[in-house]
Amino acid sequence: MITLALSKGRIFDETLPLLAAAGIEVLEDPEKSRKLILPTNQPGVRVVLVRATDVPTYVEYGGADLGVTGKDTLIEHGGQGLYQPLDLQIAQCRMSVAVRADFDYASAVRQGSRLKVATKYTAIAREFFASKGVHVDLIKLYGSMELAPLTGLADAIVDLVSTGSTLKANHLVEVERIMDISSRLVVNQAALKLKQRAIQPLIDAFSKAIINPPVPT
Ligand code: ATP
Ligand code: MG
Repeated sequence: MITLALSKGRIFDETLPLLAAAGIEVLEDPEKSRKLILPTNQPGVRVVLVRATDVPTYVEYGGADLGVTGKDTLIEHGGQGLYQPLDLQIAQCRMSVAVRADFDYASAVRQGSRLKVATKYTAIAREFFASKGVHVDLIKLYGSMELAPLTGLADAIVDLVSTGSTLKANHLVEVERIMDISSRLVVNQAALKLKQRAIQPLIDAFSKAIINPPVPT
């Protein structure tokens, strides 16, 4: 049995066509079912639904043989011990710094002001501002980052942006692009060896099915 860990939402949705290319069809819709283990048309393959940030943990410790997870999650939570054969080019977005439209970020940076930065991605934010020589107080949040600058909790946020419409709706502007993000296939090292005959064809099929849509701007 091969177990693939996916998170509900865009990663699940955007992985479906890749699975289809490998002849795998998930037999239940996670938005309709409460099941956490989903069967597929292939008796030897099942999908487990886990929180996005838990995918690397499941795969690292063998709760799943493979998984799909964002580069953001791999950097933030670590991808140690995981084989990462493919950038699947799905769930594309970027990690950016955003501030209130009326906040002069450039001059705050120029003057060497200490910035309050709210984010779920503290490791990425710490590394980014350290590399710029900007002093920051990081405030860890678990969601709705956009609210932080609007309420005075923070001067800036570090968050994922795709179309920019959420920022716009909250009168925030993107002032720095930290890195481009997409999702990777991750594989448990032991499973790769022990179940190679089942896993390698899957990697090959995914690899052939990857499309390179233009990176969103
Ligand atoms: P939860 O919603 O359970 O709190 P989460 O917010 O981490 O978890 P998602 O919002 O589904 O889960 O994000 C999962 C992954 O999808 C992220 O780690 C990232 O790689 C990618 N992602 C997040 N936001 C976007 C976006 N706006 N556009 C494209 N990909 C995104
Ligand atoms: Mg979410």
